[in-house]
Amino acid sequence: MATLAELGDERTADVGDVLYQVGDRRYPFIAIVDGEVAILDAAGQEILRHGPSGFLGELNLLSGQTVFLTAVVTRPLRYIAVDRDVLRPLLFQDGPLGDLVLTTFIARREALQRIEGVGVEIVGPHSSEATMRMIDFARANRLPLAWRDPAHDEAAAAIVSGLDPSELPVVRLPGGGELHGPSTGQVSRALGIGLELKPREEVDLLVVGAGPAGLGAAVYGASEGLDTLVVESSALGGQAGASRRIENYLGFPAGISGSELTSRAVIQARKFNARTATTS
Ligand SMILES: Cc1cc2nc3c(=O)[nH]c(=O)nc-3n(C[C@H](O)[C@H](O)[C@H](O)COP(=O)(O)OP(=O)(O)OC[C@H]3O[C@@H](n4cnc5c(N)ncnc54)[C@H](O)[C@@H]3O)c2cc1C
Repeated sequence: MATLAELGDERTADVGDVLYQVGDRRYPFIAIVDGEVAILDAAGQEILRHGPSGFLGELNLLSGQTVFLTAVVTRPLRYIAVDRDVLRPLLFQDGPLGDLVLTTFIARREALQRIEGVGVEIVGPHSSEATMRMIDFARANRLPLAWRDPAHDEAAAAIVSGLDPSELPVVRLPGGGELHGPSTGQVSRALGIGLELKPREEVDLLVVGAGPAGLGAAVYGASEGLDTLVVESSALGGQAGASRRIENYLGFPAGISGSELTSRAVIQARKFNARTATTS
């Protein structure tokens, strides 16, 4: 807390104040000194509360992805707010703090993936190839998602009623916004996972594919000062993100989940200012 206090601002908030909400693009790291905050899903259902010495946030705080949850003050709050651009380098300079925050953020993302009603809503039938592709894409990118199949869900049937098959799936974004028959690249950009590239980009190093090999190349290139761009066609992390536990990776004698390894690698690449973009 002392380290955070040196870098951030101490602020207060009243009961009912919203610290961030579903769909926001950005929020600071928030460490609670005193008081309490409830975390709600998009429908306003409470998921949990955080109290003194707790901290808010999830992987999207570091990645810049759209926010999936809302944080509302439930007891008068005194907190330290640290901008994410200030927090990011700190996570690497302060090993124990970095480990605590990263491990917690990754565990929270894994928990969010198991909660109904959080994240991206994908509406389309099982028979729609594009729908199934979108679901695979969301899962591979470890996005919390709700799949609603019109064959078993009347409200979902009403959403897709009258749409041409080419307009499927309907993808509803956290905080509003709906895309009809989007490409995975469009969804990725809408959620802030991949950059919108200019028609022409000049870089020192272009890495095609963000699996462990590509992310490794990006970390080494960017850390040597090369302007590095990583282009990925499906999921940042590649195949390794699908591995439940990797036991044979050097330096992790207890093993590490594929999702943690790849999340750490993506954050490490971004720390050195490598940019990630998605195709189509
Ligand atoms: C379920 C599972 C469990 C595994 N468990 C282990 C394990 O325990 N231990 C172990 O050592 N290995 C394990 N592996 C294997 C390990 O994940 C792979 O060896 C590793 O991911 C290979 O890394 P890579 O970067 O070479 O390729 P990949 O991980 O395949 O990454 C390549 C990336 O490039 C992208 N790409 C390809 N073409 C293009 C293009 N034209 N444009 C843009 N992007 C492109 C792909 O979408 C992909 O994301 C496992 C794999 C799986 C699927």
